[in-house]
Amino acid sequence: MRRATISDSLARSVAIDGPTASGKSVVGRALAEALTIGFFDTGLMYRACTLAVMRADVDPEDAEAVTDLVRHLDLDMRWDDPTLPQVILKGENVTGVLRTPEIEQQVSLISRIPEVRNELVRRQRTIASREPVVMAGRDIGTRVLAEARTKIFLDASAEVRARRRLGEELDSGRPSTFDQVLHATRRRDELDNSGHRAIKRDQAAEGALVIDTDALGIDQVVESALAHYRASNGA
Ligand code: C5P
Repeated sequence: MRRATISDSLARSVAIDGPTASGKSVVGRALAEALTIGFFDTGLMYRACTLAVMRADVDPEDAEAVTDLVRHLDLDMRWDDPTLPQVILKGENVTGVLRTPEIEQQVSLISRIPEVRNELVRRQRTIASREPVVMAGRDIGTRVLAEARTKIFLDASAEVRARRRLGEELDSGRPSTFDQVLHATRRRDELDNSGHRAIKRDQAAEGALVIDTDALGIDQVVESALAHYRASNGA
């Protein structure tokens, strides 16, 4: 089979955006499996940068120091299973330690720095130019994969997202209440609302299929997304 050219690869990739806990990972993984391509969760890269900033004891509000650290960061993504991206920070697989409350509290401080975003967008595009991927984030359809033919925006109310997040917190053994998680969800939406990022449906990329996931099961969301992919790619 002919290898995809760079522009082919970017155009055939699938861009998924949406606010926190809107289902991007679970839907992205299922789509990647159905299309037999890799799943790339860009949130993991912002989380890994946050971990590196914390480990280096750099002040997350010091944009210059954070930018310098990120530009020189030895950060890689690896796929042993195409649906499970692994993050390698300075040779160490840190994937399992990126979902802590400490990182969640700091990540928006790092991700709002424009130079950090420029650096990560550049690295994300390089990876997606090698072969098509399903990429999830907040600025994928609007910026990272602006040329992608298939763009999806997953929406859900803050209450439904908080309920999903609460389930994950309790499953991981972290005691939380609904009110705490709802507050944290709204706060992250506010902090993430800048820099080409699509947090609300009216900020979705042009041509994106907006799916309201409040009342839908994962299978229904994946089915709509796949139909959109087929229609956009003439398949
Ligand atoms: O998607 P996830 O919750 O793992 O993302 C963690 C954080 O990384 C987000 O709250 C946001 O601040 C940042 N992020 C971003 N742009 C992306 C992906 C994630 O700003 N494309």
